[in-house]
Amino acid sequence: MTQTAITGGCQCGAVRYRAETLGRATICHCRMCQKAFGGFFGPLVTTHGLVWTRGAPAVFASSNKIRRGFCEKCGTPLTYDWGGEVEIAIGTLDDPELAPPALQLRPTDKLSFVERLHVLPWRDDTGDPEMEAFATGIISYQHPDHDTETWPPQASPENDNA
Ligand SMILES: [Zn+2]
Ligand SMILES: [Zn+2]
Repeated sequence: MTQTAITGGCQCGAVRYRAETLGRATICHCRMCQKAFGGFFGPLVTTHGLVWTRGAPAVFASSNKIRRGFCEKCGTPLTYDWGGEVEIAIGTLDDPELAPPALQLRPTDKLSFVERLHVLPWRDDTGDPEMEAFATGIISYQHPDHDTETWPPQASPENDNA
């Protein structure tokens, strides 16, 4: 059976990884994950055979037991390392559909509104010329959702740190 490569990386493309297989995917509601991700919870999946194929994450020890990896250039949260097999932030996978969460952790810290997110009304921009023009005018500087030989393909003046 052929298996598609499990790859991913940060938004700027300075850090890229590959994993042999993925383990259990979770969302962690603890306050530390909220802060580390700047989100409502931490979406993480255990990796097996994780290797860095471009660059490597910088590390912040968020506690005496946990080290969190992130891209030093663009700030994307990448890893959660508790001393066992490293967990990867699900949204950084080139295909996050590979890691549907199977378990929720730390209910005591859960934000109250999280349970109501799926019933929020949707904004419908179809037929709004101003919003459609804005959306079609967006040029992404993020790394694409697949491995590349070199990145960025050319200097983008907006992101030139020189
Ligand atoms: Zn980056
Ligand atoms: Zn957590």
